[in-house]
Amino acid sequence: MTHKIAVLPGDGVGPEVVAQAVKILRWAEKMTGKQLLLTEYVAGGAAIDRTGTCLPEETLRGCIDSDCVLFGSVGGPKWDALPGRQRPEQAVLKLRKELKLYANLRPAILYPELTGSSPLKQEIVQNGFDLLIVRELTGGIYFGEKGTEETAEGMRAYDVEQYSEAEIRRIARVAFEAAAGRRGQLTGVDKANVLETSRLFRRIVDQMAEDYPRVAVRHMYVDNAAMQLVRDPGQFDVLLTSNLFGDILSDEASVLTGSIGMLPSASMGGGTFGLFEPIHGSAPDIAGQDAANPLGSILSAAMLLRFSLGSARAADAVEEAVRQVLSRGCRTADMAERGVVAVGTEEMGDRVLRALEASH
Ligand code: NAD
Repeated sequence: MTHKIAVLPGDGVGPEVVAQAVKILRWAEKMTGKQLLLTEYVAGGAAIDRTGTCLPEETLRGCIDSDCVLFGSVGGPKWDALPGRQRPEQAVLKLRKELKLYANLRPAILYPELTGSSPLKQEIVQNGFDLLIVRELTGGIYFGEKGTEETAEGMRAYDVEQYSEAEIRRIARVAFEAAAGRRGQLTGVDKANVLETSRLFRRIVDQMAEDYPRVAVRHMYVDNAAMQLVRDPGQFDVLLTSNLFGDILSDEASVLTGSIGMLPSASMGGGTFGLFEPIHGSAPDIAGQDAANPLGSILSAAMLLRFSLGSARAADAVEEAVRQVLSRGCRTADMAERGVVAVGTEEMGDRVLRALEASH
């Protein structure tokens, strides 16, 4: 069976970390017996340089014709002077829109071995944590009616938050399914004491809970959730959020894990098609130095195996190999504590690969 994967390394450290994820996919090909047809396309600044646009037609077509997309990162100082709509970062926004990717899944895991890198106190994070934020990605206030107008009292601006029942149901389903496959706890995050959209979210989530008897549902106001994340992140399993609340909380959760270089993400559009990318940007300050942490990209490949290729065993193996490598003390510079000699991007990729080969 052949699976087509579009590979978009992008700019900065993107190509360096994606190369490590590709090594892991090559291992998965042997392990699962599935044939993976990987095709590379340009995106972001690299695409602007070559074609004048950040998402060339050939790249978009290649993604649409594939089973999933492995993405690196885009952007960098070279293109910072371009006007907003022509910037490299538009590539990922356009892809999400064109591919109708409405669900963003962002796991935030603090491995017990890395608790020293978390900004939280040791007593809070001593056992690590493992939570997943499911964020609605194509609706809400970012896409509602907006405008600025002059009034007799001066300027007035507005952004409308709106959600339809169908939009809420489809993102809630992703969150329920994820919770059912994890520890079975779902926290709906909202501002139902003030917002009508939040009240509709709550009502629909409560209705849907009847279909998922093994998932325990609770609701939490977003201001409390922001506080609880730093007070006791271990209490969360899956958090379901609107676009705006998820944007803020997922960045907060990521910083609690110590290194932005560790975290993967998936953007799904219903079914198995998805775009998988580390949450970090192109890190121009360390690009080309073999210094980037590739684990976010490698763990994104694990999500790709799980969600798009249906290879849960291979995904589990990759996640376990990352844990093993960390527990043996291997660190890239971003997560190395004082006195620890850091390994480079390539070496970290090779260590994960060797751990996989040794155990399978
Ligand atoms: P960034 O994530 O690139 O970097 C922030 C800090 O984290 C830097 O110090 C960087 O060295 C470090 N870092 C990031 N990834 C790392 C890794 N894998 N290993 C070790 N350290 C890592 O964010 P930024 O500096 O705000 O943005 C840089 C460029 O990336 C900008 O052009 C921005 O627009 C773009 N960006 C792209 C995406 C994307 O492609 N999805 C996301 C965010 C930012």
